[in-house]
Amino acid sequence: MELFFSSIQLILTIINFRKMEQIISEKVKCLIIGSGPAGYTAAIYAARANLNPVLYQGIQPGGQLTITTEVENYPGYSDGVQGPQMMIDFEKQAVRMGADIRFGTVTQVDFSSQPLLVQIDEKKWIVADAVIVSTGASAQWLGLESEERLNGFGVSACAVCDGFFFRGKEVAIVGAGDTAAEEAIYLSKLCTKVHMLVRRNEMRASKIMQERVSKTENIKIYWDSVTDEIIGAKTVEAVRIKNNKTGELQTIPISGFFVAIGHKPNSDLFKNWLEMDEAGYIKTIPGKSITNVSGVFASGDVQDKIYRQAVTAAGSGCIAALDAERYLSEMGIH
Ligand code: NDP
Repeated sequence: MELFFSSIQLILTIINFRKMEQIISEKVKCLIIGSGPAGYTAAIYAARANLNPVLYQGIQPGGQLTITTEVENYPGYSDGVQGPQMMIDFEKQAVRMGADIRFGTVTQVDFSSQPLLVQIDEKKWIVADAVIVSTGASAQWLGLESEERLNGFGVSACAVCDGFFFRGKEVAIVGAGDTAAEEAIYLSKLCTKVHMLVRRNEMRASKIMQERVSKTENIKIYWDSVTDEIIGAKTVEAVRIKNNKTGELQTIPISGFFVAIGHKPNSDLFKNWLEMDEAGYIKTIPGKSITNVSGVFASGDVQDKIYRQAVTAAGSGCIAALDAERYLSEMGIH
């Protein structure tokens, strides 16, 4: 009997030890969440400022750029670069500067008091003096199999990034908000024709943008039209659209298919702590990365619904690291 009880005790001790192991915390001066251009740039600057940054990459290391193909508008890459390669270069530079880059996802935060608490992979808690949120945003997609299959092969969610590849060709764009209007106009300067697919009989975009679209000769609007299928074996060759009212199907030959139906900032984790706008973009003091919680800074697409470029995200990652550095030195944390 005694042997039975001591075995149970031993098992309980092991279980308790496991639990303790799970909650063992680590103290970090500057914790960066997210591994797109904003996060890596913040890591480069924070490492060079001796903040010993630790960066957690999240479920998609490298962020949105890892699902693009060629990037031609990032200064410094005179011959262009593949998006995933560019993110490898950013990571290498951050590591060379001394940043501690880790694979892992932030699953919870507690910003109720200082220092700040961040949970990794539902297990370990990290105590941080400063946190830089660079979790990015995700493009909304239609959800078609052909859209996923041809992503990067004619299907794109960024006209400014990829429009150039369709110079002199016909493209389609789906969406009717300000982004779709702006991107349709951008594409109209490069492409021979832009077929704009609008699912209702009106556009959500601001009046001025609607006016600009309708005045652009090579933009053709298809009202009440939804995408039925993107056609192409290896690259986009055409789009089949369906009229919502009549059910009529129509196939339009195109080389590029742009999706502009909105973005969703990856900010759900911070809902109870950080101030956000109605769409979930984290609010920062204009021109800075400072949020409503002291010690927490936001950079990149999670706080930028307008520009959303790799270079602007990188710039704002730099701002966040400089703001964090200033904050830590004002707090006397060295
Ligand atoms: P919005 O949410 O404003 O618009 C999304 C558009 O996509 C809507 O027209 C919507 O249609 C359409 N849509 C959504 N789902 C589908 C679908 N499955 N199939 C077809 N169409 C679909 O997003 P935006 O990215 O355009 O804009 C986001 C915010 O950023 C807005 O506040 C905008 O004003 C702002 N912005 C400002 C700019 C500027 O000031 N220069 C530039 C760009 C954006 P429906 O209307 O039927 O719902």
